[in-house]
Amino acid sequence: MIKIAFFDTKEYDKKLFDEYNKNYGYNITYFKSILNIETAPLTKGFDVVCIFVHDKIDEQTLKILENNGIKLIALRCAGFNNVDLEHKGNIKVVRVPQYSPYAVAEHAVALLLNITRKLYKSYQRTRKYNFTLDGLMGFDIHGKTVGVIGTGKIGKVFIQIMKGFGTNVIAYDLFKDESASKEIGFEYVSLDELYEKSDIISLHCPLTPETENIINKQSINKMKDGVVLINCSRGKLVDTNSLIKEMETGKIGGVGLDVYEDEDEFFLRDMTNSYKRDKNLSILLSMPNLIITSHQAFFTKEALNKIASDTLQNIKEVLDGIECKNELK
Ligand code: NAD
Repeated sequence: MIKIAFFDTKEYDKKLFDEYNKNYGYNITYFKSILNIETAPLTKGFDVVCIFVHDKIDEQTLKILENNGIKLIALRCAGFNNVDLEHKGNIKVVRVPQYSPYAVAEHAVALLLNITRKLYKSYQRTRKYNFTLDGLMGFDIHGKTVGVIGTGKIGKVFIQIMKGFGTNVIAYDLFKDESASKEIGFEYVSLDELYEKSDIISLHCPLTPETENIINKQSINKMKDGVVLINCSRGKLVDTNSLIKEMETGKIGGVGLDVYEDEDEFFLRDMTNSYKRDKNLSILLSMPNLIITSHQAFFTKEALNKIASDTLQNIKEVLDGIECKNELK
């Protein structure tokens, strides 16, 4: 029987995958720890590993996996920046490229509305029976210019929603989707023009060497004063030191983050009773007009069901020697 080691698993992973696995009958072991060089020896005796966004599959980890006979790495997520594909050798790698672009795009909108209408603040007040409005004045999204970096599956859904708000959307992507631009009604511009004209900027591109720290001191300086920045993509797209400095100067008016540059040891974990803290994360959390969620954008019922079904189907196709469209080469 095929043995699969799942890493970085939570109760909800176990529940869903056990349900979907009734159709496949794999022998699944769920590990709570992430897969990295230290935990890689645990994979001995398994055929497949199934990982998520915080597992770190670098060259040395890949060597251990190969020696342990791992044939396949199945990512149960879309992003694959945490796997060193150049050194994967004979190990196959699959991912779930599309599970619900709506989940992530809608979360980006939720973060945006939280900032523009200060919902995080009013919630804290009304819970204490404080019904005053001082300090809660927001601004209309309607009529604003929204800049979207990355017009793939999630970016396009986000743009459609923003069009519904009556905004002017401008976008930047390495590969322009001209038909979507015509159909949805947005304009491609250069990155500099996007920075210069946008009241709101939302990041929907993947993390690559070119996009790492794409939001830095220089790019922030090109932006409008009071710009609102939303990142539901990957933490390392934003240089946190620059973000903090530019929030302190008042250049940035509001920030919604679902991801954070050094999130790995914190996000998706309960650190309430731990003394471990991250300096920049603590500074960010103390800032007004900033909301952070814990890599939660994907977390809807619809998305999780699709992740479970597609991950197991990807595994079956590769093990059966069928061409798998979700294989990363
Ligand atoms: P996608 O592949 O459909 O779209 C990505 C787009 O970014 C493509 O159009 C691509 O051409 C563009 N792009 C690539 N390099 C670029 C660059 N240097 N500058 C500008 N654009 C560039 O991917 P998607 O499904 O829309 O997902 C986008 C990202 O969202 C993923 O890479 C992942 O990091 C992130 N994500 C986050 C969550 C979450 O829970 N927070 C969940 C899913 C995906």
